Amino acid sequence: MVSIAVIGTGYVGLCTGVIFANQGHQVVGVDIDVAKVARLQAGECPIFEPGLEELLLHNIRAQRLSFTTNYAAAVPQADFVFICVNTPAGPQGGADLRFVRAAVRSIATHLTVEHTTIVVNKSTMPIGTGDMVHTMLSEEAGEGARFAVVSNPEFLREGSAVHDMLCPDRVVLGSTDRSAAESVATLYTSVVAPLLITDLHTAEMIKYASNAFLATRIAFINEVASICEALDADVRQVATGMGLDKRIGPHFLSAGIGFGGSCFPKDVKALEFMAEEANCHPQLLRAVQAINHDGRRSFVRKLLRLLGTLDGTIIAVWGLAFKPNTDDLREAPALDIIRDLIARGATVRAYDPVAMDAARVLLPAVTFCADPYEAASGADAVALITEWPEFLELDLPRVRDGLARPILVDGRNLYDPHTLTALGFTYRGIGVPPVEAWENGLAPLVADNGRQTGAAKRERIARHPLDVVAN
Ligand code: NAD
Repeated sequence: MVSIAVIGTGYVGLCTGVIFANQGHQVVGVDIDVAKVARLQAGECPIFEPGLEELLLHNIRAQRLSFTTNYAAAVPQADFVFICVNTPAGPQGGADLRFVRAAVRSIATHLTVEHTTIVVNKSTMPIGTGDMVHTMLSEEAGEGARFAVVSNPEFLREGSAVHDMLCPDRVVLGSTDRSAAESVATLYTSVVAPLLITDLHTAEMIKYASNAFLATRIAFINEVASICEALDADVRQVATGMGLDKRIGPHFLSAGIGFGGSCFPKDVKALEFMAEEANCHPQLLRAVQAINHDGRRSFVRKLLRLLGTLDGTIIAVWGLAFKPNTDDLREAPALDIIRDLIARGATVRAYDPVAMDAARVLLPAVTFCADPYEAASGADAVALITEWPEFLELDLPRVRDGLARPILVDGRNLYDPHTLTALGFTYRGIGVPPVEAWENGLAPLVADNGRQTGAAKRERIARHPLDVVAN
């Protein structure tokens, strides 16, 4: 069993510390946020992450896990120091490394000559940061201090962080010092996953390339969804059909209003920035970001088309967190969408199972409701933004009866359009043809997007087949 210091006790640092402590290691979490450390010392979990609170308490009670604001109480005795501080987007789009530099400076003063301390970069850090950390430590640590630097990017997903740390798809370690990387590998012996040891730059790049690729898949299927809407195809079935191809696979092909959160947006932007700095031409990364932003705008446009105007309307927003099972609001689509709705004169009544406390500060003009029914009561439409599983358990006739107009725009394709339409809702998903368009006699002549609908088009095909072929 070894001694580990974890610098930064956010989503990544706290989960890292808790999991290592649970494996029997002695872990001290260090954070500069005094209030957060006080809550952790009291055994309170400052974030919502399934399964984390129980493990946190268990390991604090077992005296394997403690928290401090004092680097001197954590670093000198540590065999491994994991840097897990935030690396947000800077003003130009590149990662802001202020927090990393501050952490490295604080670590440097506590490195010792007695044993080698392995400093592990777990935060997502731009390519070359490992070299920077090494240089800073060399310059700022005391004479003869022994240390090595290893990059060990983290791939956990918020909402399933504990599971992902226990069962990762892979463990990536990068270093110029192979034996240091192998030492870090010993911490992962209980994990059944491929282990990849690379040089520092390659490990750092694997993290950015992975996030950018996942973001690209989401942007791709969302672009396909827009085309499906224009051409009366169903993106859900398109994704199923695509995903059955083993070369493609089914993951990250769910159309919706796009990605948010603390990672994809900033990491795609940072990779674009790094590419530009290196005189590359990152046109795909630019397109991914543009498509993602369009998703938020076109969701509001969909509400606008159904309601005629947003001015003076009441919109019930279901879901605020950037995805289910987290309280994280960073870059959450709900924030942009709600601000846009309010700017267009709508009143917003919102509900989220866990993110409302944080949202109150960011969205002072919003009325927060005790449950989805209260949010929908008297509203002109429901805007579903986060696909919390509890929304599948709702009494939808009760929701319909409470609404002033039975309109539901589903930003995550959570519901079955036929069921909702049969219940009397005017339902719109993402990349899904309105049910009316497929049912004889119900089809409007022109769809929401101004094009002819499926039924109208089929009628035209029957009358003038060559006309359509020529299109
Ligand atoms: P976070 O904002 O939740 O937590 C960061 C913590 O670091 C905060 O508590 C902050 O107070 C603390 N901190 C900042 N400067 C410090 C310093 N000098 N000394 C001690 N503590 C300091 O961030 P996060 O979501 O845990 O992300 C951390 C890193 O991991 C980022 O680089 C992120 O991109 C990456 N990452 C995040 C996720 C995720 O899902 N959140 C997944 C994989 C990788």
